[in-house]
Amino acid sequence: MVKALQEGKIYCARCDEEMKLVILPRYEFEEGITLHSLPGYKCSSCNKNFFTEEQAQEMAARTEELKGSIFSFKRKVLISGRSLVVGIPVELADHIHLKAGTAVKILPVSNDGFLVKKL
Ligand SMILES: [Zn+2]
Repeated sequence: MVKALQEGKIYCARCDEEMKLVILPRYEFEEGITLHSLPGYKCSSCNKNFFTEEQAQEMAARTEELKGSIFSFKRKVLISGRSLVVGIPVELADHIHLKAGTAVKILPVSNDGFLVKKL
């Protein structure tokens, strides 16, 4: 736990040093997703990072945004006979080893999307 001995000041839980507000050049809030230029607190003695709840929320939001842009595709819905068709990008198909003829299950997700799962 981080102690707040003086209002607005954050002290390192490990060494009681006052932590300084810094901009971290790189930080992985979630493994494999690197955020850049992130505000946070750093202990100058042990290099431990600390984030306020607000900073953590921003990190979570930025991580989600990155995840969306890392592997997402925009497609238009087309029509084929009586069905609507969405083209599956070959990169995505390869990623999950999806081939023509593979049986899939389609499940609605909330009111604005669906999930396609291999059977
Ligand atoms: Zn420390």
